[in-house]
Amino acid sequence: MVKRALLSVSDKTGIVDFARGLEKLDIQIISTGGTARMLRDADIEVMDVSDVTGFPEMMGGRVKTLHPKIHGGILCIRDDHDHMGEALKAEVEMIDLVVVNLYPFEVTISKEGVLLEEAIENIDIGGPAMLRSAAKNYRSVSVVCDPKDYGHVLKEIRSTGIISQQSRERLAVKAFRHTADYDATIDTYLSKELLGEDVLRLNYTDGVTLRYGENWHQEAKFYKEAGITGPTLANAKQLHGKELSYNNYIDADNALQTVKELSSSKPVVTIVKHNNPCGLATGNTLLQALQAAWDGDPISAYGSIICTNTVFDVQSAEFLNGKFVEIILAPGFEHDALEYLKNKSANLRLLELPEFNEPFSRNDTYKYVNGGILKQSRNIGIYDKWECVTDVNYPEDMRAVSEFSMHACKCVKSNAVTLAYEYQDGCYMMLSMGAGQPNRVDSIRKLAVTKARENLQVIHDREAFDLSFDDYCNEVFSKCAMASDAFFPFDDSVVHAAEEGIKYILSPGGSIRDKEVIDTANRLGVSMVFTGMRHFLH
Ligand code: 5GP
Repeated sequence: MVKRALLSVSDKTGIVDFARGLEKLDIQIISTGGTARMLRDADIEVMDVSDVTGFPEMMGGRVKTLHPKIHGGILCIRDDHDHMGEALKAEVEMIDLVVVNLYPFEVTISKEGVLLEEAIENIDIGGPAMLRSAAKNYRSVSVVCDPKDYGHVLKEIRSTGIISQQSRERLAVKAFRHTADYDATIDTYLSKELLGEDVLRLNYTDGVTLRYGENWHQEAKFYKEAGITGPTLANAKQLHGKELSYNNYIDADNALQTVKELSSSKPVVTIVKHNNPCGLATGNTLLQALQAAWDGDPISAYGSIICTNTVFDVQSAEFLNGKFVEIILAPGFEHDALEYLKNKSANLRLLELPEFNEPFSRNDTYKYVNGGILKQSRNIGIYDKWECVTDVNYPEDMRAVSEFSMHACKCVKSNAVTLAYEYQDGCYMMLSMGAGQPNRVDSIRKLAVTKARENLQVIHDREAFDLSFDDYCNEVFSKCAMASDAFFPFDDSVVHAAEEGIKYILSPGGSIRDKEVIDTANRLGVSMVFTGMRHFLH
């Protein structure tokens, strides 16, 4: 039975309604200064903590509840004869419910120009002590540290007179997590202020065990970042299919970042394999973007992850008939599309992420290396400047497709080169890419150009154009924008691109051989823009 409750909160959201609910259930309320005042103003009957302890609150509130009459009442094991005897002797009365939230330390230190003294005064001492006492004694006592739990707790007491064991356990863990986070924030702040040390604390919870890691013999888990909001896989709802694998998480995250990189108002589709987008396109419709992304590498698209910024429709679902896909990640699925895809395969993972088109809530990224974690800010933007460095001007009407190509290039593992073209008015596709080569020229010569021809062959066969295949290739290459994630260390990359009829190249520039590269571009009639921004991705 819950007979007595102690309420002491800094964040007073919802406390009056909650206390009124407790009062109606004949639960006696004890409270500290500010909380008691607020409840009395609302005509709720309250007993002051100082009347329980026989001591006034003192030292500017530093000492309010730190007293055996409070902590004895919380910590006493109810079915321990000795505990109860000692309580009786010392006139300690039981406290069954503790409702506490803490001085706003984090809010205080995030204020500009905050003084150390103010921060220190906002370190709550009695609050965490009560939360920990109550959480420790969760078999007898319930602890509430989050106003979001008021409704649920009231409902339980109202219907059963008690708070269930299951709820008490959940609330106890929540309270310990809350005080742990609170102390971690203080440690981080004071380490910096007093010792000049930079502490990185990452808070990841709710670990789910995955069937295996990158390979079958590796164990793996996924931990969700505590409290993360916005477009992340952690917030995606799985509507159908097998559970996500370790590699699925990596590839789907890449896919999500790739689509969001374009931030296009049109439908965007990417197709990802092995942590690289092998297809990327915008379209006037989702189906159009999907077809164009698929055309970016129909061979690799087998077993891929598809990701889009647009609600998945039935036409696009039907396009996937007979095609093997691992995951579709989208802001939502039309009802008929969902049914179609569910029937298509029991294994196909369908992930719905309504927050898809919101901005990322974190601007830092982290990577574990043995013995440490690397932190960096997100790679935002595509260029610092737009400087045509060749005799032949870079036409303004090639700018949009060139930007698309550089966005795509940013998402491909280095050394990265992408070829993109405007396949229809205002719609762009990555025709091919060269990824992950230890030298740039191979990404162009051995991968991007070869793949482009293969892909064009498929399109040419399907569309049965009047043009011969060679003429068709020449036409497409002549309107391609080739983007490179870093400067060309030699002029060979430009030579190979020009041999294929590529006329427009973007590169960050900045090589000691820039002049040689530019001279070669001029000799071959290629226009080139230097962007000043490198986009390595490892
Ligand atoms: P009130 O607004 O009711 O005066 O104060 C509520 C706040 O006081 C809560 O955040 C609670 O955690 C904190 N608190 C309760 N007891 C003590 C104590 O003995 N010492 C300190 N420093 N804070 C306390």
